[in-house]
Amino acid sequence: MMSSPAITEILASLVAFDTTSRNSNLDLIAWVEDYLASHGIASERIYDATGTKANLWATIGPAEQAGYILSGHTDVVPVDGQEWTDDPFALVLRDGRAYGRGACDMKGFLAACLSRVPAMKAAALARPIHLAFSYDEEVGCVGVRGIVEKLAKAEVKPLGCFVGEPTSMNVVIGHKGKRSLKVRVRGKGCHSSLAPQGVNAVEWGARLVAHIRAIADRFAVSGARDALYDVPYTTAHVGIFAGGTALNIVPDESEMVFEIRAIGADDPDAVVAEIEAYARRELEPAMQAVDPQSGFDFDVFAGFPGLDTAPGDEVVTLAKRLAGRNEHGKVAYGTEAGLFQAVAGVPSVVIGPGSIGEAHKPDEYIEIAQLEACGAFVDRLIAHCTEVH
Ligand SMILES: [Zn+2]
Repeated sequence: MMSSPAITEILASLVAFDTTSRNSNLDLIAWVEDYLASHGIASERIYDATGTKANLWATIGPAEQAGYILSGHTDVVPVDGQEWTDDPFALVLRDGRAYGRGACDMKGFLAACLSRVPAMKAAALARPIHLAFSYDEEVGCVGVRGIVEKLAKAEVKPLGCFVGEPTSMNVVIGHKGKRSLKVRVRGKGCHSSLAPQGVNAVEWGARLVAHIRAIADRFAVSGARDALYDVPYTTAHVGIFAGGTALNIVPDESEMVFEIRAIGADDPDAVVAEIEAYARRELEPAMQAVDPQSGFDFDVFAGFPGLDTAPGDEVVTLAKRLAGRNEHGKVAYGTEAGLFQAVAGVPSVVIGPGSIGEAHKPDEYIEIAQLEACGAFVDRLIAHCTEVH
């Protein structure tokens, strides 16, 4: 096999680009393009609406065949307010670890994949390997939608997608689906001595908050169960509830932000619909009897589909074979895998180097042994793709 550039060398180059989600990722993308071009591989940018960020898509091997996707995001979470021992954007190798922002989540995976590009190029691939590098994952799996929408229309659909979020190279077949909502409560203000003539937006909002909690309790007590999750049922949670300005004023507005995280057996949109129906049916009539303009505005502002790949699916069996493992699990955090599966119809698994416990923190690091294990996984994928089926 052709010798591969050191993963840590590539990782150092990638970490040096400050691709915090608020920044452009184009310098990193250009670096990857140049690297791929130096190995004779063309790549395609899929831009966002502003033109300041892009996904990168590259195919190594016969594009007309169905192959496999290696998918990762190029953005990282901010270092703001974190105490780092060293410069977070200069990779430090110490005690078998590589330290730097994104080393674990998830430039380590990108580096492991890129280090094997010469080997991919040298191999007689019967099936292609695609690299799908996205932007804006950390702010709600935004960027990858450009890739999956393209894939949804593709004539040849890939056989599988490996999303390299940190799983310590465990085979992950599921994560919950999420919906994030903002609700504005429109009340009617007045002096508090005339309270019954107003519509108290805090009090009516609180009734909705209590109902969301009641639904969460119902799932906890009698909802469907998936034992592979730490919290084995669907959850709902209100994270922000704000309203009111003074004690002697009936508040005319309040606002809440809440989320649903659903296991595969539950439809998060059905939960959203149930909450909205309660507001329309049980709360709004009484509010509007006082002021017809009052009521609730619902806004689903973010979310991603869940991942629920069947344990017997071919992509799961292949991932286990390539990783040398027999077990599979599910994770609490969301990934782009749900979008590949739900929107593009590509069977997906999450498997990548490093532990999620090491991500997003000051002094983020990845074990170099994990990077090597990921490189070996890609080596076996290359070998698999040279076999004619
Ligand atoms: Zn990530």
